[in-house]
Order: sequence, then C-alpha cells, then structure tokens
Amino acid sequence: MFEPFWKEVGNSATVVIPGWQKMSYFSDPRNLCWFLEPEFANEALRLHRIVGNAVTDDRHIIVGVGSTQLIHAALFALASAEARQPVNVISAAPYYSMYSGISDFMKSGMFRWAGDAAAFNGDDNFIELVCSPNNPDGEIREAVRGNEAGKRVHDMAYYWPQYSPMRLPADHDIMLFTVSKATGHAGTRIGWALVKDAEIARKMGKFIEMNTIGVSKDSQVRAAKILKVIADGYELPGVEAGSKFFHFGRCLLANRWQRLRQAIEASGRFSLPQFPSEFCEFFKEHAETYPGFAWLRCEDQTIEDLEVFFKTINILTRSGRQFGVGPEYVRISMMDKDANFDVLIKRISFLE
Ligand code: PMP
Repeated sequence: MFEPFWKEVGNSATVVIPGWQKMSYFSDPRNLCWFLEPEFANEALRLHRIVGNAVTDDRHIIVGVGSTQLIHAALFALASAEARQPVNVISAAPYYSMYSGISDFMKSGMFRWAGDAAAFNGDDNFIELVCSPNNPDGEIREAVRGNEAGKRVHDMAYYWPQYSPMRLPADHDIMLFTVSKATGHAGTRIGWALVKDAEIARKMGKFIEMNTIGVSKDSQVRAAKILKVIADGYELPGVEAGSKFFHFGRCLLANRWQRLRQAIEASGRFSLPQFPSEFCEFFKEHAETYPGFAWLRCEDQTIEDLEVFFKTINILTRSGRQFGVGPEYVRISMMDKDANFDVLIKRISFLE
C-alpha cells in the first residue's frame, strides 16, 4: 500500500552497508538490550516524540524479529518458570488470529491459550493481549480484565496517524510496535517493545538471545533509515506535502475506505463498523478512523459462511472463526497494492 510513497522518496531511503560493517553480534554491550542498534533506538524514540502515540520516558526498548517475536518474548517474560500450571493467555474476541497460535505453538509449560477474554472465568493468573486499534475490527480497546492482578501486553501495531486519530500518548507497561504496519516494511522484520519494568525487559531480551541471539543489524539499520525519512518529513524545513508519510497514508486509506463503503452499501448485503470522528493530536484537526482491515458482517440470511461466499467471487478473506467469532464475519485487508484493491472494489461492485 505504501510502496508509491517509498518510490517517490527514492534514494533518500536507500541503505548501503559496506561489507566490513555491522559484523559482530553486539550492538551496545552496556545496554540491557545489547543487540539494539543505537541509531534504530534513537529514530524510534524520535518518531514516537513527533507522533505522540506513546510515552517513552523511563522505558526500555527491546527490538525483535517483528512484533511476532516480541509477543513470544513478552509471554515468556510474564509467565513464571516455577508455576505448576501454565498461565492463561486471553484476548477479547474478535482477536488477532495469531494470538492463539503464538500461545500454543510450542506447547510451552509456561503459558497456554485460553480464548476470549470476555468469556474467561478463570482466576487472576492470566495474561491479556490487548490490541488497540484492534485487528480485525479497528476498535480502540482497553483491557477487558481492567483492575485485576493479571498481566497485560498492549499490541499497538496500528496506533499510527494514518489509521487512527492520535489521542493521548499510550502509557502501558508493555507496548509493542512494528515497522510492518507503521511504514509498510513487513519484510524487514523489525518490531520494538517499550517496557517499563527492567526485569521484564531483561527477560524479554533473554528470550530473544536464546531464540535468535539478537536481531539482524542490517534490518535495524534499514528500519532506522525508514523511520528517519518519515521523521525528517515532519521536522526538516521546506518538505513538500507529498513527502509527509502519515499525510500520504491517511489520504490513501481515506480514499480506499470511501470506495469500499460505497461498494458495500450498494450491495445492500453487508455492514461495516462505524467510527466516530475524533480530534487528532497529531494532525491537529478532527480525523476519521481508517483501519488496516475491513471487518465485514453479513446481513443476508441466505449466506451461511461469508468467507466461502466471497471465495466464489474470487475475493480472499479471513473468516470470523479465526478471530474467535462466527462465519457471518470476514476480515478484508485494506493494505494491498493499489491494483489489487481496485480489483477488490470491482468484484464487490458486481454484487449490486
Ligand atoms: N500484531 C498485530 C495486531 C498484527 O496485525 C500483526 C501483523 N499482522 C503483528 C502483530 C505482527 O507483525 P510483525 O511480526 O510483522 O511485526
């Protein structure tokens, strides 16, 4: 989706790493996260400061192979190696479909997937994964199990101005971010966690050390450059509007959402979530919500399984079942390339 922006900025986002550089395992031996490249950390902090989406004071940064590795690391760090029972991992349905797989894939004795947080009636021994804005439905969320003793991981992958109005900077104990959603560079495989507690941060780092002995420096250098280009677009004087990444992203998504809503309305068979417009502290104006996914509900009683229905007209979706709800829901990606999005709209328009 963001490829045209990165084509437009051209060489200013190109990275060259001479063969003799970045060869060691170590980036900063004095840092609790010794495999964190300082230039990546600096650019991530700079962008948070510009955007205002997260409190970064007195936080440890842990870099990971995407936020996927950081979810594993956070579960490891929050669970107890000594506990007799695995801790329950929960998230409010509809939840990001990977949470269940990540929790159970290794059949860990330390944690296990326990499903929908709203339906969970276990004790205080839980870890709640809170995704906000939520994948798949775009909702702004708080923990469902608010005031209890359980532990929380806040997955903030989509808390960036192209998707959502920026409210107050988020201030949670563990917050996860990723370049795959922030900038579109999913293949760079770089995510970062802002972690309040030093012991939890140390355990997350230990997990990554045992899992991959750190995180590719080459990728961190590339991610640092990408974040720098975005930040420069807002901080250097005389930058044209077309070089302002979040403006570009918001405009693109606004256009896509308008076209999708029109096509869905014309079909008369499905509904989409509605979001109130809110004041955005980044754009300094009222702004709409444009999630990276469309969460579609079937209103046509003759369709039993919406994913199967869409497959018959060559539209690939993900069934609500994978997100802990029923087959009357599907998730459609709004983040594909322009040409694919055009085909999607064309195929939905045939349903009129
Ligand atoms: N969290 C959420 C909510 C996501 O949607 C995704 C990607 N689909 C991830 C985490 C993982 O992203 P990555 O590993 O690419 O950082």
